[in-house]
Amino acid sequence: VVVLDGLGKTFGSGQSQNTVLEDVDLTIGQGEFVALLGASGCGKSTLLNLIAGLEAPSKGAMEIPSDGVAFMFQDANLFPWLTAQGNVELALELRGVPKAERKTRAEALLALVHLQHAGKKRPHELSGGMRQRVALARSLAQDKHVLLMDEPFAALDAITRDLLHEELTRIWRHTGRTIVFVTHNVREAVRLGQRVLLLSSRPGKVIREWRIDDAQKQPEQAALLADEMTAA
Ligand code: ATP
Ligand code: MG
Repeated sequence: VVVLDGLGKTFGSGQSQNTVLEDVDLTIGQGEFVALLGASGCGKSTLLNLIAGLEAPSKGAMEIPSDGVAFMFQDANLFPWLTAQGNVELALELRGVPKAERKTRAEALLALVHLQHAGKKRPHELSGGMRQRVALARSLAQDKHVLLMDEPFAALDAITRDLLHEELTRIWRHTGRTIVFVTHNVREAVRLGQRVLLLSSRPGKVIREWRIDDAQKQPEQAALLADEMTAA
């Protein structure tokens, strides 16, 4: 569903020219869970922004689904004046869901992220993990085939992050979404991805790729894989 062909991105011009991505070739199939791994500053967010159409590529071509993509950011980016339920309903409204259906649909989406009791709360009344859950429900409400996630759990404590990993995996299996998940955390990449792509720095391009089956997600195997990725 996503095809990148020789994609490149250069910021600035002349002396201050900075080539962040070069020759990125990538094909992501329907329903895949791809983890995009790389050091800070290597161009992971830039690549997601290109796929999302938030930035224009300097080179190359790409294909994305005609219905566009949903984007989930590192900080939840919720509207502070709306409740959790209101934030999800707004996404439904923007995609044209009739008013009569929005309430029940938003409730179902909040239940999917285990927030059925928090619909009336505003973002500042929620914990960081709960806010990310609302943001996840909201990006699911957009009902796009592809969900792009840019380090959405980086600011959370380890226990909350583990819980959200489980929930995201469950939701991915349940909804059949295609997910591209950016992280600089090797363990997170192994835990979530079916495919882990390693992006190099200067310029960023995909230099290694691992396919990961469920057996390899078991703790011992996963630790070995994580070591291999760290060494690469
Ligand atoms: P992190 O893990 O810290 O989020 P990242 O891999 O997401 O890092 P990017 O945010 O994609 O990295 O940035 C990669 C490089 O591109 C950096 O050197 C950054 O300064 C540069 N860059 C990103 N956006 C812009 C922009 N709008 N204008 C100029 N340079 C930019
Ligand atoms: Mg980034």
